[in-house]
Formats: sequence, C-alpha cells, structure tokens
Amino acid sequence: MSKAPKKLEDLFHNTLKDVYFAEKKILATLPKMAKAVNSAELKKAFEKHHGETEGHVTRLEQVFDIIDKKPQTKTCDAIMGIVKEGEEITDEYKGSPALDAGLLAVAQAVEHYEISRYGTLKTWAKELGHSDAAKLLDATLGEEKKTDAALSALADTVVNQEAE
Ligand code: FE
Ligand code: FE
Repeated sequence: MSKAPKKLEDLFHNTLKDVYFAEKKILATLPKMAKAVNSAELKKAFEKHHGETEGHVTRLEQVFDIIDKKPQTKTCDAIMGIVKEGEEITDEYKGSPALDAGLLAVAQAVEHYEISRYGTLKTWAKELGHSDAAKLLDATLGEEKKTDAALSALADTVVNQEAE
C-alpha cells in the first residue's frame, strides 16, 4: 500500500518551518547589513526592520502553537541564496558607493520572498479554518509590505544618487 497522500495541512506546516528558518536567518543577517552600509537612513531602516523581525519570529511561534506543533526550522535554500548574494556584494563592493545600492536590492529581494510566503500561508490558514493564524500572518505581511515600500523610497532618493 502506498502512503496516504499529504494534505494541505502538511504543506502549511512545512512552509511554516521554511519561513521560520528564513526569519531567523534574516534576524542574524540584518545587523551585519546595517553595519556594512554607509547611508545613515539605510542603516536605520535595517535596524528598524530587525526589531520587527523579532516580532515575526514570535508570531510564527504563535502560529505553530495554534496548529499544536513545536516551532521547528527547515532549511530554506531560497533565503540562503539571497543572503549569500549579500555577502558577495559586501565583499566585492567594499569601499564603493554602489555597496548601499547592492545591499538595498538584496534587502528588497528578502522582503519580496517574505511577502510571497506570507501571502500563501495566510491563504492556506484561512482555507484550513485557522482564522487566528491568518490574522497573525496578515500582520507580518503588512509589515513586510511597508518595509518594501520604505526601501523603494530610499532607493529612489539616497542610494541611487550615491551610486552615480
Ligand atoms: Fe519578516
Ligand atoms: Fe522582512
């Protein structure tokens, strides 16, 4: 007999572990990015989002609790790849004004990844009848979108000018 087919509940749990890993990785990476950039505004934006990211980790732990699971991580290759790009840029553009533009772009790639994951998780949480989980995921989704917009505004004003 073949195994019982996996369900949406399994997919939700698995994706939750993926994002939990990603958030923890971002939590460790944002202070390094804040340290690397020259723009005071960009530094401040990274530091602010580091604080918010602590809240994202806590919310995910609450969602694990709602589905009666222990918080657990699963390596997220996507976030590992984006973080690696950031490390390469930090290395290769040391001392160049383009460094800030590069790290801002990396931060936006992270936000876009998170926006995609949280949008999906929110949809699945509703589908599965976990309305409290959907609310928590939506709160984080809103902060990721706001962060992305704040970074876009910075890209237009400060960073791209510096890179010229
Ligand atoms: Fe986040
Ligand atoms: Fe984020």
